[in-house]
Amino acid sequence: MSTSPDPSTPAAPARPDGPSLVWLRDDLRLGDNPALTAAVERGRPVLLVYLLDEVSPGIRPLGGAARWWLHQSLASLATDTAGLGGRLLLRRGAAGDVIPGLVDELGADAVFWNRRYGVAEREVDTAVKTRLTDAGIVAHSFAGSLLFEPWTIKTGGGTPYTVFTPFWRACTSGPPPRAPYSAPDALDGAGDDLPSDELESWQLEPRHPDWADGLRAAWTVGEAAAQQSLAAFLDESLPVYGTERDQPAQQVTSRLSPHLRWGEISPHQVWHATDVARRGLTGAAATSATRFLTEVGWREFAYHVLFHAPDLATANLRRDFDAFPWPPLDTRALQAWQQGRTGFRLVDAGMRELWRTGSMHNRVRMVTASFLIKNLLIDWRQGEQWFWDTLVDADPASNPFGWQWVAGSGADAAPYFRVFNPDLQAAKFDPHDEYVRQNVPEWGTADYPAPLVDLGETRRAALAAFDQVKAAR
Ligand code: FAD
Repeated sequence: MSTSPDPSTPAAPARPDGPSLVWLRDDLRLGDNPALTAAVERGRPVLLVYLLDEVSPGIRPLGGAARWWLHQSLASLATDTAGLGGRLLLRRGAAGDVIPGLVDELGADAVFWNRRYGVAEREVDTAVKTRLTDAGIVAHSFAGSLLFEPWTIKTGGGTPYTVFTPFWRACTSGPPPRAPYSAPDALDGAGDDLPSDELESWQLEPRHPDWADGLRAAWTVGEAAAQQSLAAFLDESLPVYGTERDQPAQQVTSRLSPHLRWGEISPHQVWHATDVARRGLTGAAATSATRFLTEVGWREFAYHVLFHAPDLATANLRRDFDAFPWPPLDTRALQAWQQGRTGFRLVDAGMRELWRTGSMHNRVRMVTASFLIKNLLIDWRQGEQWFWDTLVDADPASNPFGWQWVAGSGADAAPYFRVFNPDLQAAKFDPHDEYVRQNVPEWGTADYPAPLVDLGETRRAALAAFDQVKAAR
């Protein structure tokens, strides 16, 4: 299965016999990890490190649900690594100091990592690479988290894509993504004597109060669980994904997003396993498999957009939206939305699913986001931040991309004047109110809140506000 990954910076090492350091980030897995594979194939002892960097400038602090996931994922990876004879070291601090310091402690002569795509992360990585290279240490970086590196996909005019369909056509018209690398059979560990932080000391899990029971019930975290989710999805749901994916009660989607977010599974593994499954399908079922891969393509597109617009989480991609006249923030309305107490059943079901499980079905993400922006006239950045805090798959690219898509300010976005009617969406996609009843037990009783707003009036107000964007063009 595996051929050697192609390191970006081959150079002569200054300490020719040193062990290798593998710096893990959004790639918390042993299988199909190009950086790890290259380090192992080099034939020297290997130490894995995860660094909690909450201090380097511009690195966005993780939200609560993401911190919970990270804790479980690191615990799982440490066990898996030890099972192969290796060690996962934990350190905390600014990467620019900690990684070169650890290289010295270990006596390593090479560092391996898979690339990140946010601007602050890239700046950190470049600075670390420069410091290492200046010290005669080789730094190798690899493509491990995306199928298509964002800078390799360009329009005929050499510019980044802003529309999904031609972007994905360009991606899929070339050679298919490389085959996944196997996990190493064993690790020749290094750095056994080096001190590691205790995972507990990072306090990633909520304590007072511990609100994570719903997350624990909803998810099994880690590389093995990610592989099991993929296998179960391909076995049971892939053929009907195309027709049933929009119905939240059916639960036919893969639920791979947090595993992909944290790199417990790679998109290459997802791609190739799906491609194999697709070959056994015909007709609508085969189309369904292609549809699933297209959704994985949206994740690629979100990263393509983030790479070229680093301030995606804070600035309108379409700058004419800066003229949108957001009214002063109505904190009472924002809280009703956050708590799932708006009086609109699909919105409330989604927001409560999010709070309980750290996730929300894609269709309902679109409906809840549209409601916040276009019926409550609350800036999309407020919603993006809430999702960032509460989603276990909170993703630096897909989350702001999704919010700007709904707002109309983003790449290939839904037009602003398309305002979802949450009641019509409920009738269409949850016709028997199954999803609503799973999440809002008091729906239909006197305890359920009255509607917070009038849908028609607020829709008209939103469209009038949008006229100001058009006038400013
Ligand atoms: P499946 O339908 O099984 O899709 C397979 C994979 O494809 C997903 O795991 C995901 O990695 C990718 N994918 C599917 N749809 C999209 C999409 N529209 N955009 C980008 N990638 C996609 N996804 C995140 O991973 N993290 C986020 O923080 C996030 N925030 C969102 C916010 C809003 C407002 C919206 C509208 C969408 C957001 N999405 C986000 C995209 C999408 O909702 C989730 O990826 C999807 O619901 C995850 O469920 P699944 O794994 O079962 O998806």
